[in-house]
Amino acid sequence: MVALANLRQVKHGLTDDLLTGRVRTPVIKQPETRGKGKETMSQQNPLLSIDQQIVGDAYTSTDAMDNLIILCDDFGSRFGGTEGERQAAEFFKAKLEEYGLGNVHLEPVEYLGWTRGEASLEIVSPVQKAIPCISLPHSPPTDLEGVILDMGDGAPKDFDQRAGEIQGKIVMTNSVVSPKGSRRWIHRSEKYGRSLMAGATGFIYVNHYAGYGPVTGGIGRASSSSAHHKDNREGPIPGISICKEDGAFIQRLMKGAGEVSIHLTTTDRCQPMTSWNVIGDLPGQQYPDQIVMLGCHYDGHDISQGAADPASGAVSVLEAARVLAKYAPHLPCPVRFALWGIEEIGLVGSREYVQAHADELSNIRFYLNMDSAGAKSNARDIVLNEWPDLQPYLERWSEEMALVFAVGQSVAVHSDHFPFFMAGVPTGGMESAGMSLSGRGYGHTQWDTVDKVDLTGLREASTLAARLALRMASEETWPVTRRDEETVFELLDRPEYWEEQEYRERLDAFLEKSRSPGGCG
Ligand SMILES: [Zn+2]
Repeated sequence: MVALANLRQVKHGLTDDLLTGRVRTPVIKQPETRGKGKETMSQQNPLLSIDQQIVGDAYTSTDAMDNLIILCDDFGSRFGGTEGERQAAEFFKAKLEEYGLGNVHLEPVEYLGWTRGEASLEIVSPVQKAIPCISLPHSPPTDLEGVILDMGDGAPKDFDQRAGEIQGKIVMTNSVVSPKGSRRWIHRSEKYGRSLMAGATGFIYVNHYAGYGPVTGGIGRASSSSAHHKDNREGPIPGISICKEDGAFIQRLMKGAGEVSIHLTTTDRCQPMTSWNVIGDLPGQQYPDQIVMLGCHYDGHDISQGAADPASGAVSVLEAARVLAKYAPHLPCPVRFALWGIEEIGLVGSREYVQAHADELSNIRFYLNMDSAGAKSNARDIVLNEWPDLQPYLERWSEEMALVFAVGQSVAVHSDHFPFFMAGVPTGGMESAGMSLSGRGYGHTQWDTVDKVDLTGLREASTLAARLALRMASEETWPVTRRDEETVFELLDRPEYWEEQEYRERLDAFLEKSRSPGGCG
C-alpha cells in the first residue's frame, strides 16, 4: 500500500511489496570511474585483506545459487501458511548455525493469514465465456454478479471524475503504475481503495504486461491505518486478477455490446496463522550494543517461485553471513542477519520485529534491506532513506572498495526497511538508485522463476552487503542516530505526497464509518 499519506495517523500501517512508491526523486551520485592504479587504491583500503578473502571466496563458490535453488525448487513459493515457508525458516536457521553465527533462533509471528481457493470468472453477457482468474491475497469469498466498468489505467483523477459511474459496478483497471503520466507509483491497493470508496462491488486487476498471466498482490490493508500488522484485515470487496490478453478481450466485447456482465465466485479464506523471522548474530567485540543489520524477507507470492523477489536477496543475506563469519568474526560491532516472514501481505515479520524489539531500536547503527537485491534485472546500488550524513561515508567506501555503485536518497514504502524507517532507525536498501515507473515486469507473476537470477547477481549483492556491513561495523564513531517521530513525519510532509494523503484520509474515514466488527471470517 503506497501511501505516505496522512502519515500522522497512518504511521506504520502500510505497504507490501517492493520498489514502489518512491517518494522523492533520488539524488544519485555516481562515484567517478577511476583511472588510478591498483596500488593506490589498495593502499587506501584498510580492510583490503578481508575484502580479498570475502570476494575471493564468494566468487569461487556456488553456495548462494545452491541455496536459491533449494528455496525455490524444493520449498516453492514459501508463501505464508505453506509447508515450504516452514521449511525455508528451518533452512535459514540451520544455515546460519552451520556458518557459525550466534544467537540463531526463530521468532514466531502471529498474523491474519490467507489461503487461496478456487476462483471463477464467467462472462454471462453478451457472450458466455470462462476467463481464467486468480484472487488477490486477502480477497474475501464471494458469489457476485455484475456489470464491468473499465477504468483503464486507473488514474486517481479518473476515479474522482467518474465516481458517479462506479456505484454498483465491478471496476476493471490495470497494473500500469504511472497512469496519465503520474509522477508517483499508483499502487494496486490505491486503485482498489478508490474503487471501494466509490461503491464498486468488485475489483478486476489486469496485468499490463503481455505473456505473464495474471499479477498478484495483497489488497487486505486498505483498511489498515493502524501501526500494527495485527490490524490487517480481509478486503471489503473481492479482488481478482486476469491476464492482459483477457482484459483486452473484455474491452473488445464492451466496445461491441456496450455492456459486459459477469459472474464471479471466489472461495478464499482468511485465518490466524504463525510465521517466523529468522535471526542470527555475529557478536561485536567492542561496541556490543551498536548493531549493523542486514535483512530480506523470504516469503514469495503463492503463484510464484519468488526467485528474484525475494529469494535473490534472502540468499545474498545468507551468503554475506557466511563470508563475514568466516573472515571477519571479531568486528567491533555486532552484525545481525534477519530473514523476515510475510512481507508480501503486509510487512508482517518486520513490523512485528520493530514492535517486539522497540527497546533495542536505538542501538541499530543501520538496517540495510536487501529485498530482491540479487535479481538480474536490478542494479546493485544503495538507496539511503534520507540520511545525507551517511552519503559521504558510502562514497568513501565505494572509492576504498574500488567498486562503483550509485548512492541515492529516497524513501519507498513497500518493503521491510519501512517499519524501521518509520521508527526512526537509519535505513537504506540495495536496489537500483534510478527512479523507475515502468512496473514489476515478471514480478508478482508465475514467471518470477529461478532463471531470473544468476550467480553473478548473487555474488555482487552478497559481497557488496558483506563489505558494507564490515565497514559499518568497523567505523569508530557513527555519524547518525535514530530520529524521533516528529522528524520522521516532517521528512515526509511534502507536496508530492499530498494527493495520496488526501486519498488516505478519505479512505480511513470511509473505512471507519463502514467498519464491521472482526476482520476475517
Ligand atoms: Zn520482496
